[in-house]
Amino acid sequence: MFPALAARPGRTALRFGERALTYGRLAAAAGTLAARLPAGRRVACWATPTLETAVGVVAGLLAGVPVVPLNPRTGERELAHILGDAAPAAVLAAPGERLPDALGALPRTDVDVTATGPAPVPAPEPPPESPALIVYTSGTTGPPKGAVLPRRALAANLDALRDAWQWTADDVLAHALPLFHVHGLILGVLGPLRRGGAVRHLGRFSAEGVARELSSGATMLFAVPTMYHRLAEAVGTDPALARALAGARLLVSGSAALPVHDHERILAATGRRVVERYGMTETLMNTSVRADDTDTGPGTVGVPLAGVELRLVDEEEAELTGAGEVGEIRVRGPHLFSGYLNRPDATAAAFTADGWFRTGDMAVRAPGGALRIVGRQATDLIKSGGYKIGAGEIENVLLEHPAVAEAAVTGEPDTDLGERVVAWIVPADPGEPPAAGELAGHVSAQLAPHKRPRTVHLLAALPRNDMGKVMKRALAAPETGRDG
Ligand code: ATP
Ligand code: MG
Repeated sequence: MFPALAARPGRTALRFGERALTYGRLAAAAGTLAARLPAGRRVACWATPTLETAVGVVAGLLAGVPVVPLNPRTGERELAHILGDAAPAAVLAAPGERLPDALGALPRTDVDVTATGPAPVPAPEPPPESPALIVYTSGTTGPPKGAVLPRRALAANLDALRDAWQWTADDVLAHALPLFHVHGLILGVLGPLRRGGAVRHLGRFSAEGVARELSSGATMLFAVPTMYHRLAEAVGTDPALARALAGARLLVSGSAALPVHDHERILAATGRRVVERYGMTETLMNTSVRADDTDTGPGTVGVPLAGVELRLVDEEEAELTGAGEVGEIRVRGPHLFSGYLNRPDATAAAFTADGWFRTGDMAVRAPGGALRIVGRQATDLIKSGGYKIGAGEIENVLLEHPAVAEAAVTGEPDTDLGERVVAWIVPADPGEPPAAGELAGHVSAQLAPHKRPRTVHLLAALPRNDMGKVMKRALAAPETGRDG
């Protein structure tokens, strides 16, 4: 999985704040820990953004012991659900880290990142189908499900991304994401380690941190749309940030749709396009704009990665091939998970008889072939007056209004229309929310009548999960919260 562990001992692999590990030290620390992991069981990892988490996960991969990363901000109830489901034999944690009561019954293994011990005897590489990680989905649409990710999927996906992003050992990643999901852990930590490059974790995200890293040797930035929004807000008046972003080799966004307005503001201030990729916990990455693509406009997530078969299907399961037709994305290939843990029912329901994974996401093909995500079938596709309306298009128009900081659009039951379009808005200045008439004028100028919101709710903040994704089920039904 990681040839660089042996081949490049003197190179820096990981840096979290003041602490760093070379590949040689990483191999020693992870190898020492690997020898202590319970063979044939799985282990949880208290996935703080630290060297310990990275070493713990690499150790699991070396030992062939599947690791279940835990979000340290998970509520007690969700944590109990995950622990009951994954039944780990132990929990890996940084020394001194306080763990919640829910973990009290589990044996704890402190991760020693300074272990140098005798060079561990390299275990034979576990078989490609064996599980490497069990990653819980973000819980945006329901309780999180444990996706079992085999080694084969990790290797296939990271190598497909190498091609799409021209990713090399010379790349240094500025990393500001949490380490308990695919984006931050598999792409952001295992990706650079597989390439032989380096990771610099910023700790807490800040525009200053991004500017500092990108102007001192980092070549790539992986971030989520809420972070790009903050960069877009700052970049027009911060020449140092603009220079840093302009000098980056690759800016990658994913996990949710990047608003067109933010993409355009960053492009205008830096000349640099943010590259959008589309993926899921279950599938890892399916599509991406390629690093050498200078044509694809904002709002598109590019083309299928090497080895990924992708089709759009209509409600009758017929394949759509033309531009502009909205269908559900189905994918097949070596990058897919092997199933949901303990959920044979959900696993069976997720695949068609011939092995296509039903993503539940809707998309259209833009002219030129790149995909444009319309949104989730369940929450972002509004059926109103015989039309199918994508929430994202309306959200993008609302976000262009200067008095709107955040926007989400949902469908609400309506006796005449079936569903009606409803907007939820966070004003840029809470003291001066956009006037109803003015916002209506802005929307009318850009959207056909059936797409215009019938109701606009003002909120202090949108309900978002730890990846910054808007949890629309909390908007539609305020009484159901995250654990609902
Ligand atoms: P759950 O499955 O538990 O409800 P989730 O679907 O948010 O949560 P993830 O697997 O982390 O959990 O997220 C995958 C989803 O994120 C995709 O199905 C898609 O809806 C959305 N997504 C990812 N990348 C993009 C993107 N570039 N543009 C739009 N949506 C995206
Ligand atoms: Mg999902």
